[in-house]
Amino acid sequence: MKKYVYLFGKGMTDGNASMKELLGGKGANLAEMANLGLPVPAGFTITTECCVEYFKNNGKNPDGLDEQVAEALKSVEALMGMKYGDAENPLLVSCRSGARSSMPGMMETVLNVGLSTVTIPGLVKRTGNERFVYDAYRRLIMMYSDVVMEKAENIEPAEGQGIRKQLDAMLESYKEEHGYAGDTDLTAEDLKYLCGVFKQKVAEVLGREFPDDAAEQMRGAIGAVFKSWNGKKAVSYRRIEGIPDDWGTAVNVQSMVFGNMGESSATGVAFTRNPATGDNKFYGEWLVNAQGEDVVAGTRTPNPLNDETKNGQNEHLPSMQEILPGIYKELSDIRCKLENHYRDMLDIEFTIQEKKLYMLQCRVGKRTGTAALTMAMDMLEEGRITEPEAIFRITPAQLDELLHPILNPTAEKVATKVAEGLPAGPGGAVGRIVFNSEEAVKCREQKIACILVREETNPEDVEGMRAADGILTARGGMTSHAALVCRGWGKCCIVGAGTLKIDETAGTVLTPGGTVYKAGDVISLNGTKGFVYNGAVDMIDASENPRFQKFMLMLDKYRTLGVRANADTPADAIQAAKFGAEGIGLFRTEHMFYGSGAEKPLFALRKMILSTTLAERVAAVNELFPFVKKDIKATLKAMAGKPVTIRFLDPPLHEFIPHTREQQQELAQSIGISHEEFLKRAEALKESNPMMGHRGVRLGVTYPEISAMQARAILESAVELRSEGLYCPVEMMIPVTCDPKELRDQKAIISRVAEEVKAAYNVIDLDYMVGTMIEIPRAAIRAGYMAEEAEFFSFGTNDLTQMTFGFSRDDIGGFIGDYLRKGILEADPFQTIDQDGVGWLIEHAVTEGRKTRPNLKAGICGEQGGEAKSVAFCHKMGLSYVSCSPFRVPIARLAAAQGAILAKKQ
Ligand code: PEP
Ligand code: MG
Repeated sequence: MKKYVYLFGKGMTDGNASMKELLGGKGANLAEMANLGLPVPAGFTITTECCVEYFKNNGKNPDGLDEQVAEALKSVEALMGMKYGDAENPLLVSCRSGARSSMPGMMETVLNVGLSTVTIPGLVKRTGNERFVYDAYRRLIMMYSDVVMEKAENIEPAEGQGIRKQLDAMLESYKEEHGYAGDTDLTAEDLKYLCGVFKQKVAEVLGREFPDDAAEQMRGAIGAVFKSWNGKKAVSYRRIEGIPDDWGTAVNVQSMVFGNMGESSATGVAFTRNPATGDNKFYGEWLVNAQGEDVVAGTRTPNPLNDETKNGQNEHLPSMQEILPGIYKELSDIRCKLENHYRDMLDIEFTIQEKKLYMLQCRVGKRTGTAALTMAMDMLEEGRITEPEAIFRITPAQLDELLHPILNPTAEKVATKVAEGLPAGPGGAVGRIVFNSEEAVKCREQKIACILVREETNPEDVEGMRAADGILTARGGMTSHAALVCRGWGKCCIVGAGTLKIDETAGTVLTPGGTVYKAGDVISLNGTKGFVYNGAVDMIDASENPRFQKFMLMLDKYRTLGVRANADTPADAIQAAKFGAEGIGLFRTEHMFYGSGAEKPLFALRKMILSTTLAERVAAVNELFPFVKKDIKATLKAMAGKPVTIRFLDPPLHEFIPHTREQQQELAQSIGISHEEFLKRAEALKESNPMMGHRGVRLGVTYPEISAMQARAILESAVELRSEGLYCPVEMMIPVTCDPKELRDQKAIISRVAEEVKAAYNVIDLDYMVGTMIEIPRAAIRAGYMAEEAEFFSFGTNDLTQMTFGFSRDDIGGFIGDYLRKGILEADPFQTIDQDGVGWLIEHAVTEGRKTRPNLKAGICGEQGGEAKSVAFCHKMGLSYVSCSPFRVPIARLAAAQGAILAKKQ
């Protein structure tokens, strides 16, 4: 029989930290903490495998599970000296989810499971605290009815009509009627009464009695946790994080310990180092007389753990260091023990029950990009981790975040600060206010920057949080859901800006200064400090951090894959070199015909396109020549001797035909033709399938003078720069090829021009290479033959993906969402290389190409070249380099180093 249940607790632990796939992160770490001798309340973990079986079984427990649970429960009872469902000495348990990788707040939990009319009297007698027991009972009713009886049954109540909301409203109005300020004012009698009316309400709304049987409660809770794997927010989170749907979640059933047993009980969350800055300081929040949900729900402002955690919002509240120094010391020791053991920053949850400390969770903590960098370099210097380990402590997304903009400090100084909150997510954000997720998603689609403003943090909002540029809430602490999620994403976020009065229904924010903001008004956030500003504050790039530079240099020691940039202007080239590009892998000549300053070259290009006779065309080409040469020469100069791959012209020509009558007439006049003749020629250029039309090498085949002009511009630039003392290796790249004969044709033109340039400049040698893009499947299939002519390959994976899938690269937006939702594709192949199909072609082409030409240089210059997974794949394929946009160069360097380290390990 398959083992579905693993025990943890003093002297009886089955698992350990390496078993995350089976036990989930939480289960594996609970086992590890128990193995380390830390005070973990006993319990058991039901495996992720069991969850997968449960779904295969149409939502029924697989054979053997019930027996294994019963068996495990006996061991837990023995260790705790209590009995589940017992009238005298009842054990209560929590049922919590726990996937392989952390999905904070995205799945469900039920606490206080096992309370019933049978067990309540026994617990009251044992604790002598009737109030506590009924408070626990009302929490159970609220959670259980919501999670097990409503969500897990797929009941979709109308907005605001969910059972949890209805019970919350009853609680609030009861407190109001009695003039109570908070939950703690409720007496035992009040709670007893509320439990009664809550149960009636549950039966009335959900048509089922709240279960009074402990065994039924446990079965229901376990099933509901399984089902929450497929809950809406969990599914959305998995899409965003790329977590596979078939992993499933584990369920952790653990003895309850109570942080809400009175003033000597408490609960809290801490990080072994500061997760926002990375500082090596113990950092946490805690609440006296509370359960864990109170800390993460963000409904009460938590106390600081110690002096280091004090800030403007909580400095008036006593820290644990001050009022429970003994327990604080114990917790600090555990902090050291855990860091020494895991050699990483951990996020821990603890509870104090009547002055006794228990550890409920530990996991590697989410952190900002800045914190990731600081911690990696600190731990390296502390000798805790090696260089390769440090390299894996920063994800490509975190590195990206480090390159992201912040508010300009000079502009910030003069901006009007309207509120302060907690700095939960780093960087700056400027945008229009939106009050709900749907609006945030709409803004993202329309490319409008927005700030999602909410009363409190809520994991249901995951899509909107993702879509927004920044997040601002009035409630919540540094460990609230929004804070955790945003930090993980490196998103600018401020929580707990308590002086703001946010009315989501009315769509207004009232500042303490009396200003009212409405949806659409612009504000700015400094997520690193927690400051909110009126209007749009100027943004700048994050400053050059010396630690960042050191980290980047360390990467270069490990990677073997080259990193170049796609740069189309001298300015791009300078930026790329600053980020460490080792050359240019793609210079798209046609970009000089777009944007400011493009009028003159564009006019000449249009003349060339509309020419119909050789004489006309040669005249137009000669007119175009100086512009092309100027651009190329400036770019070669900017790269100061690094290799530059210049691609020959490759646009569908009709794109350049002017549309206004005025422009058309001006052009016609300049060529010396009538407007009618112009229209006729323009009509002739129209193609039904321009992406597969008269572009790339096909232009050069039809009009050799165009290729000759480009070759001349490139070679003359290189010779002239050489005479200035700058040696510039140039690589001429022919696009859209599918046969070696096309290359032969173009190489003949280039050779002829080279001879002419040599003669004209009186030089005996010219150093250049001629290669091709591989962006048509036939070119990949026939790569062995292509390499007879091509001295290098550059995979144009934009077109190669387009033509391999037959998906239009410009129109995939219309259906890719459905393909991803239905799981037909795991990712957009235009963002990350499709390794099975396009990847197969790349592998085949490199292998065949190198059979013909062993030293064949091969790179990639499609958009995927800057995406981390694709970069690792390119390393595996033995490519010489990847080429990507300048801002992605650092990410590619990281991914290349990580890919090399991984490959070595394997
Ligand atoms: C490609 O097709 O991948 C490529 C780099 O060229 P372009 O995007 O200019 O078609
Ligand atoms: Mg292309």
